[in-house]
Amino acid sequence: MYLTRSGSRSGKWRRGAGGFPWRILAIGDVHSPGDFVLPLQPRDELDLIVTLGDIPPSVIEQILWWGRGIPVVGVPGNHDKADLPGIVNVHGRVVEVADLRIAGFGGARRYRAGPNQFMDWQVARRLYLLGPSDIFLSHAPPLCTSAGEGWVHRGFAAFDRYIERRRPSLWLHGHLAHGYTRIVGSTAIHGVVGKRLLTLSH
Ligand SMILES: [Zn+2]
Repeated sequence: MYLTRSGSRSGKWRRGAGGFPWRILAIGDVHSPGDFVLPLQPRDELDLIVTLGDIPPSVIEQILWWGRGIPVVGVPGNHDKADLPGIVNVHGRVVEVADLRIAGFGGARRYRAGPNQFMDWQVARRLYLLGPSDIFLSHAPPLCTSAGEGWVHRGFAAFDRYIERRRPSLWLHGHLAHGYTRIVGSTAIHGVVGKRLLTLSH
C-alpha cells in the first residue's frame, strides 16, 4: 500500500523512493495534559506521525487535525478500542509508506477481559507470519529490554525473535512510565512516553 499526503491509496507519497532521512514524531501513553501539548514543532519538518497506544480519543483528534496531510500510522494500546479511526492501523500487518515498510503489534499481556490483550503464543503465531519491516510499532516493549516491570508491563519474547529474524531499523513502543533508548543488534529501540521526535537515516 502506498500513502499519499492526503492518505489516499493511489500514487506515491511525496518523499518517493529512497527519501531519507525520515523525520518521525512518535506519540504514546498520554496520561496527563502535560504529556501532549500543541503546537508541536513546525508541521513541515515532519514526514510521519506514529501513535503507540493508550492515547485518549480527544488527543487523537488533535493529532489528526494538527497533522493533516502527514501520514499517521499506529497501533492500539491496552486501554484503547481495537480500531483506530483516522489512523492507518498496522496491528499484525506490514504497510508501505512510500518505500518505508511499517509493521506493528498493539496491546499488551492478557490480564483481564477486554480487547488488545494477548498471550505469548498468540503474539508468536502472528509475528511468525509477518514479513520484514523498517519500522516496527508496538504498544508493549520487547522482552529483551527488561524495561517493563510486573506482569502487565512485561514485554513479549516474540518481539525479541522478530528483531533477531527481521532486523527492523527502528522499534518504537509505549506502555511504560519512562522513556529510554536501547540498541539491540542493528535495531534502535525507543520507549516513548508522551511525544518524541526521531530521525531515521538510511
Ligand atoms: Zn498500556
